[in-house]
Amino acid sequence: MPRDKKGKLNGTFSEAGKSQRPPQSSIHMSATDHSESVSSEPHESGPAADLDPHAVLAAATGLLRHLGRSGIRWAPTANESGQQQWLARMAAPEVTGGPEPEIAAEPAPPPKTTTPPTSRPKEPTPSLDAAARSRLMPVPEVTVTDSPYPGPVLDADQRQQHLHDLAATVSQCQRCQELARCRKQTVFGEGNPSARIVFFGEGPGADEDRTGRPFVGRAGKLLTKMIEACRLKREDVYILNSVKCRPPGNRNPTEEEIANCREYFETQLQWIRPEYIVCLGAVSSKALLHTTLSIGRLRQRFHRYHDSKVMVIYHPAYLLRNPDAKRAAWADLQMLMADAGL
Ligand code: SF4
Repeated sequence: MPRDKKGKLNGTFSEAGKSQRPPQSSIHMSATDHSESVSSEPHESGPAADLDPHAVLAAATGLLRHLGRSGIRWAPTANESGQQQWLARMAAPEVTGGPEPEIAAEPAPPPKTTTPPTSRPKEPTPSLDAAARSRLMPVPEVTVTDSPYPGPVLDADQRQQHLHDLAATVSQCQRCQELARCRKQTVFGEGNPSARIVFFGEGPGADEDRTGRPFVGRAGKLLTKMIEACRLKREDVYILNSVKCRPPGNRNPTEEEIANCREYFETQLQWIRPEYIVCLGAVSSKALLHTTLSIGRLRQRFHRYHDSKVMVIYHPAYLLRNPDAKRAAWADLQMLMADAGL
């Protein structure tokens, strides 16, 4: 079989007879194609001219099967339709000097793209938002009023007498109907009428209601320890509450009840005129400083109520429930001791 300059085999189907030859005769195959081994390939002159077209088609079918087994995916299937497709493709005019004819091929599967391992995005560093930072920041000093306590400065005996008289008045108070009905007795307060330091709680509990003395239960025992930790005795200080009657069920006193009792505790403070007022818990700090800020924001600084420096610390009952907060309470007391020169 003749070869062209490129080493390709050239031949025609025309030699099978003008009536039998396919309409196109050009064969364009690569020398490496397996078609070269097909013995029935027609030629212009020679025995191929006598080939039966059916025999050619049978040979083409064998070739297609061979190509299929060889994994050539673009080969037509080995049936009659594939044969016609195959013959038409072979009959295409030869193109020399140009690119190889484009052969429709099954679309190749998209190449597997290996996604480069992406490093896991770094977790953002936990940061406190502005609101959280604001909540943790101490607040400026709260000043209810920096004017001196009103009224004359009383000596120790006068203070004692005035407090005694006021306690008698309080014991008959009926301003808060529910509290007055439920109480066993009022709890006015006790201690040194000339105390430098006053501890200001929220209200009596069951033990206080029964005894008539402030801070005598478990929380009271802890408060006594805290006072002694400041190198003081309980008799050295004065202890009072924002309400003088026990709220039923140990609930917090209402704003109305605190307002009703405000006159009493403000009068006590006015006569005692302490250097320091230690608010025990949020209820008392709210009652005295007129603020809803939490203890966490109010502590560790001195606020102002008339001539008194006001410190806010955790309530002893809270410290009993949350022992971890005792460290903070001790730090607050140390601050008090340092400022008071104790
Ligand atoms: S809590 Fe105060 S104002 Fe209310 S009834 Fe008792 S003493 Fe009076």
